[in-house]
Amino acid sequence: MKEKLWSWLFLTYITLYSVCGKGMKGETMNELKALTLNDVVQTLKYYNLKHCEFPFNVTDKGYSSGVVDFNKKQIYIDNELGGNDQTKTILHELAHAYYETKGIILSEKETDKVTKLTIDRYFKPKT
Ligand SMILES: [Zn+2]
Repeated sequence: MKEKLWSWLFLTYITLYSVCGKGMKGETMNELKALTLNDVVQTLKYYNLKHCEFPFNVTDKGYSSGVVDFNKKQIYIDNELGGNDQTKTILHELAHAYYETKGIILSEKETDKVTKLTIDRYFKPKT
């Protein structure tokens, strides 16, 4: 009886994981697009963007060059960044914030994909 219960729990876990965990993640990855000017403006209607000294103690996740505080609707960017690093960091944090306004919390991998798509679309010289 006990064994049956465990195998049932295990199967339920595996099913839920494949449906909700991997399944949804996979779908989100394929649906991700470059941010548009409209996406950026819509995001900045809700979020403030502040350049400040880092490391900024908002999360305990360690050092990063940008942070989004979803509760305070605040984006913090390391004020020592410049050039491409600054562009990348701003786009990365905007991607987090934009999707949060849609009720979606992206993983780091997904956020990096949106950042790359946006840079490829608007910041790479067209050849
Ligand atoms: Zn991030």
